[in-house]
Amino acid sequence: MESLKAIQSPGTAETRLSGWGRYPSCQGHIVNPESISALPNCFAQTDGLLPRGMGRSYGDAAISNSSTVILTRRLNQILDFDEEKGILRCQPGLNFEELINTFLPRGWFPPVTPGTKYVTMGGALASDIHGKNHHKDGSFVNFVNSFKIICADGEKLNCSRNENSELFHATAGGMGLTGLISELELSLLKVASPYVLVKKIRCKNLAETYEQIEANEKDYPYSVSWIDCLAAGSSLGRSILILGKHADKSLDAGETPTLEARQGITIPFDMPSWILNRYSIGSFNQLYYTVQEASGQEKVSHFNPYFYPLDFLADWNRLYGKAGFIQYQCALPQENSKAGLEEILTLSSKRGRSSFLAVLKKFGKAQGLLSFPIPGYTLTLDMPVKDGLFEFTKELDEIVLKHGGRIYLAKDACLSAENFRKMYPALPEWLAIKRGVDPKNRFSSSLAERLQLK
Ligand SMILES: Cc1cc2nc3c(=O)[nH]c(=O)nc-3n(C[C@H](O)[C@H](O)[C@H](O)COP(=O)(O)OP(=O)(O)OC[C@H]3O[C@@H](n4cnc5c(N)ncnc54)[C@H](O)[C@@H]3O)c2cc1C
Repeated sequence: MESLKAIQSPGTAETRLSGWGRYPSCQGHIVNPESISALPNCFAQTDGLLPRGMGRSYGDAAISNSSTVILTRRLNQILDFDEEKGILRCQPGLNFEELINTFLPRGWFPPVTPGTKYVTMGGALASDIHGKNHHKDGSFVNFVNSFKIICADGEKLNCSRNENSELFHATAGGMGLTGLISELELSLLKVASPYVLVKKIRCKNLAETYEQIEANEKDYPYSVSWIDCLAAGSSLGRSILILGKHADKSLDAGETPTLEARQGITIPFDMPSWILNRYSIGSFNQLYYTVQEASGQEKVSHFNPYFYPLDFLADWNRLYGKAGFIQYQCALPQENSKAGLEEILTLSSKRGRSSFLAVLKKFGKAQGLLSFPIPGYTLTLDMPVKDGLFEFTKELDEIVLKHGGRIYLAKDACLSAENFRKMYPALPEWLAIKRGVDPKNRFSSSLAERLQLK
């Protein structure tokens, strides 16, 4: 996989860059600094700049053919930890796997986590990521006390809610375009064990899915629904709702928690793209919906399969073949979300645009200026790049816009600048801050060029 090879290569190099969806890709220049002290030299070598973590954004947020891409993965030191309060100071390249391996044995867990451990803290803040607990706890920035950022002029600024607060709110969700986050201070979550109590509920349609999500939201901080996006008619929106909460105490009292619950496997080569079609996905969905043990009873799960089920299959993006895939993730405001989702699911079913992974989550309060979450619901669809895909996503964009919704920039590969402007009303405020700290537009990406973020 090009992006990971690039991360392992030292020094300056030219390489093919893409995000996790492997669409789009471009030829780019990378530098791979070993330490924070090497950054001024990286900044001096070139005009255009773009920080990159683990390349787990799906589309073109972490690629560029004009800016030098600064890999941050080697900047992964833990700088300080307050055992009492769970406050961590670290460099931006630290990823969730390293954080968990170091701090879970001491009883601390990331308070907001994405569906993979292979995301850096810098990437998490730049996308202001959300977890399965957004309805209760909000997004990543809620647990960031402060950070340091190196701006276009090379100056390092401290940012918090009290110091350079405008830049603080423009950088959370600012997709690496305000500067390079070089240090973060985060509050971790105290947990009593590495286990999670999980309850699965089978829901026969969208109305029942909504009912169950809302009936359970107070008791379970984590909530996510797998949706059968090919089901139609009275089964439209049928789902398996998966709820979770951290177990109170270690179920293996006295034993050291095992961090690896099971061995993963790797997809060894690019699968032919025809393998994923409406028939194979339809059969998978039928099977998944029927055989899931969705008894409505709580079961104990290790945190790994609960939070990171996809990490079990390394390089699973190769399942979509060489042409790659996109992840279409939209958020719809609470009042319109059911109508919007019905339209999206009906259109997906009609067009036969299937997705193995169609995921529905509830969102709580909104955060940073360009942060994605808004109070309501978010739906995620994975779709292989093939004929007619971008005509279809345009149709979806219109539905999302009509209902006052928006698209997640960390997943996006195809939104137009015009629609983007309509979706993010705080954009003018964000642009004013960006122009203040980066008047020559040094920080740019393929996404920024496509959406005219300058
Ligand atoms: C399997 C999978 C599951 C996922 N699940 C979720 C989920 O549940 N919720 C969610 O919100 N997201 C999810 N994501 C998306 C992922 O969390 C985000 O795209 C995240 O930003 C990726 O982090 P990264 O370290 O790989 O950054 P990259 O993809 O390399 O970069 C992402 C953005 O961050 C910027 N950036 C990176 N490092 C820095 C830095 N030090 N300073 C400034 N800017 C920086 C880049 O310029 C770019 O704009 C998922 C992705 C995958 C592949």
